[in-house]
Amino acid sequence: MKVEDKKVVQFLYVLKDEQQSVLESTENEPVAYLHGYNNMMAGLEKALAGKAVGDKFSVTLPPAEAYGERVEGSVQRVPMKHLQGAKKWKPGMVATVETEQGQRQVTVVKVGKFMVTVDSNHPFAGKTLIFDLEVVDIRDATDEELTHGHAHGVGGHQH
Ligand code: ZN
Repeated sequence: MKVEDKKVVQFLYVLKDEQQSVLESTENEPVAYLHGYNNMMAGLEKALAGKAVGDKFSVTLPPAEAYGERVEGSVQRVPMKHLQGAKKWKPGMVATVETEQGQRQVTVVKVGKFMVTVDSNHPFAGKTLIFDLEVVDIRDATDEELTHGHAHGVGGHQH
């Protein structure tokens, strides 16, 4: 079986930047997604298409195909009580903030007494990302998954 539309694909990855430092890794907990339903970064879906279980390969995504370029001027001060995800904040930590457009991830730049300076760029914005990938499972999507437009079960959506 190959990766194609309407397949649920499980894969492991190690995400590195151009300096080869590891930014993120699935360790032994695969990510599952429904192929062809825009569940996954477009560049990754493209790289996974046609692959089989056991295939290991690397893909390099420029910022435009990953988390986008950094937007300057997106640094702002917000009340500390609006940050979610930790009790104490330090520069470099990633926080969740509720905005009118929904939840956003921000990176803490500076911590004051009541106010925190945050940068609303995604922490990986502006980075060229290198994914080392391994396909660990491919199966047909269920009707329910196709209706919902995402994968269920291990590594996918839990309802
Ligand atoms: Zn669902």
